[in-house]
Amino acid sequence: MRYQGREVDIEGRVRLVMESALTARDRVGVQDFVLLENYNSEAAFIENLRRRFRENLIYTYIGSVLVSVNPYKELEIYSKQQMERYRGVSFYEISPHIYALSDNTYRAMRTERKDQCILISGESGAGKTEASKKILLYYAVTCPTNDHMAILGDRLLQSNPVLEAFGNAKTLRNDNSSRFGKYMDVQFDFRGTPVGGHILNYLLEKSRVVHQNHGERNFHIFYQLLDGGDDDLLITLDLERNPQNYRYLVKGNCPRVSSISDKNNWKVVMKALPVIDPDIKSCEGQNCPISITGCSDMHKHSQNSITENRCVVVLQLLGVDGSALREALTHKKLTAKGEEMISPLNYEQAVSARDALAKAVYGRTFTWLVEKINQSLHWKDSTKFPFSKDSSVIGLLDIYGFEVLQQNSFEQFCINYCNEKLQQLFIELTLRSEQEEYETEGIAWETVQYFDNKIICDLIEEKHKGIISILDEECLRPGETCDVSFLEKLEDTVGSHPHFITHKLANGKTRRVVSREEFRLLHYAGEVNYNVNGFLDKNNDLLNRNLKEVMCQSDNQILSHCFRREEVIDQKRPEMAATQFKNSLMKLMEILMSKEPSYVRCIKPNDAKQPGRFDEVLVRHQVKYLGLMENLRVRRAGFAYRRRFEAFLQRYKPLCPETWPNWHGRLVDGVSTLVNHLGYKAEEYKLGRSKIFIRFPKTLFTTEDALEAK
Ligand code: ADP
Ligand code: MG
Repeated sequence: MRYQGREVDIEGRVRLVMESALTARDRVGVQDFVLLENYNSEAAFIENLRRRFRENLIYTYIGSVLVSVNPYKELEIYSKQQMERYRGVSFYEISPHIYALSDNTYRAMRTERKDQCILISGESGAGKTEASKKILLYYAVTCPTNDHMAILGDRLLQSNPVLEAFGNAKTLRNDNSSRFGKYMDVQFDFRGTPVGGHILNYLLEKSRVVHQNHGERNFHIFYQLLDGGDDDLLITLDLERNPQNYRYLVKGNCPRVSSISDKNNWKVVMKALPVIDPDIKSCEGQNCPISITGCSDMHKHSQNSITENRCVVVLQLLGVDGSALREALTHKKLTAKGEEMISPLNYEQAVSARDALAKAVYGRTFTWLVEKINQSLHWKDSTKFPFSKDSSVIGLLDIYGFEVLQQNSFEQFCINYCNEKLQQLFIELTLRSEQEEYETEGIAWETVQYFDNKIICDLIEEKHKGIISILDEECLRPGETCDVSFLEKLEDTVGSHPHFITHKLANGKTRRVVSREEFRLLHYAGEVNYNVNGFLDKNNDLLNRNLKEVMCQSDNQILSHCFRREEVIDQKRPEMAATQFKNSLMKLMEILMSKEPSYVRCIKPNDAKQPGRFDEVLVRHQVKYLGLMENLRVRRAGFAYRRRFEAFLQRYKPLCPETWPNWHGRLVDGVSTLVNHLGYKAEEYKLGRSKIFIRFPKTLFTTEDALEAK
């Protein structure tokens, strides 16, 4: 067979691209950035992306990392036939595709019996969730299955619209933006059949329940209920169809989104719920999560005009005593010196108690829903999550990428911290696997120069000294604390840190302005200013104790599950939001560390959500934030190509009379003879215990040319 392309993957195997599998169109630019002549040039990198994007080639590799550019239009590349094309075919024999990555990961899990994970990152609207759906679909369609497992596959797929209804919203950047981070394990038995799943959710953006920025919406489910719920249901719930009549839905002044059919999506969700759990369907009325979310909304409906009937419905749905709730919403209970005191709340305080309740009800119901989905995905033979060892797992992480907005707050702080951690993981895993291979092969480890962002992770998370600790301390400190005192405390404690700057500390050190209410972090991906307003409140995330007391007496099954009595009895303060997030991230890192990672890096080509537009400035930012140039540099820093002696000899032995037609001595001597004959210079290659390592792609191309010429 004649081979056309010659490419080098990050593990360094030459990838021989079969002519038959690739068309001329596929070969626009390079399909692996590792092959770029000038791999240090950002301009060349972006030009390659652009050229391919123009031809609808949205996928390109950096070694084993898949870079994907959102086409913002349906491409004919996801059909079942396409899936078949990628099945069992080596990663590099065919054009880059999310299916290639899916298939490769699956096969690595099967053959190496090692758990895998696929980390998908990118900014909002870049295509992360779509990518994760395509991966799931690929497994659902191509993996061996039986009737029982088909049900599971169905649940796995159906969980998506449900989670999206409750966890996604229209934002300025994405009409269907996931407002929570998601890690999903898909579990396979020894035959490679998907048999179970488990979802971990991170940091749902609860603040959206009570407030939306202009042009944005609350979570989809509210609009779906109002638009799609049948008349009887709406009458029972005493709801009107128009979302603009509701305080919690009107803020963004955006009741409709042209790309979304709330009515249809409601139907989809209603169909999906019973697939996940038949019980949810049967309690569609009072107990179903929708009514609860609906109620948390209605409950806040413009208070002046709230009708008697609506109050009754709300109380019924919440399953609590009316006077107790009224009391809890307007008074707070304090315990001072062992004595209980009750003091009335002023208007602002009452409003914020109300909002806190709505957020708590929504947030906890969401967690309950994820639990329900998890129960339905659990394989009956398996032990609890994390799964037992007789099965293998592929994990999918769909989590917000590095985020820089006009105004950055607590949420961006958490998100960007998360991305620092993922970058750490990336560095550790990539370099670790390189190093391990060098060690087993007995080749001296050559340090790769890279920026280690541990220093920034420490700045944020270090015990007692890090920003999160300081924030917690400030939240707990008795007396007058406020966001500004938090900022001052930061200046005192971490002011000298090279990655931390405030207005006071700046002293002309930085060109762009940091306002008096901001601190700036120099992240691995760039500088971000965080406005401290609201940091303390958001970290506290407090629900008055008396509201908790009322809620835990609810006779609504779901709510009584969400609000536990122990929580009220236990006087210990629960962990604060940032610390909770930090701890859940630590657990996530452990999970990911135990697996073999693959990466999908998603890029958004323009802010207008339009096909065919490639905004260079925007793309350049993302290339930077995703650390792609660094990524490429690390991949190219060591040896571009490596291959087992026998494979290398087998392929190139015709080029040397001493190795042709057969070499009878030790393999390593054969390879040595061969490369000497070819004139390899000492700095171009190294011989390990079982493999040859070649430093530059060029060396290999020359050899390939010689072979082709023969
Ligand atoms: P993210 O999860 O990164 O915020 P999404 O995956 O929700 O972004 O993608 C945003 C939108 O972009 C989708 O709703 C879809 O319209 C479009 N999109 C993303 N990926 C693709 C793709 N591979 N093909 C076609 N459209 C896509
Ligand atoms: Mg998403």
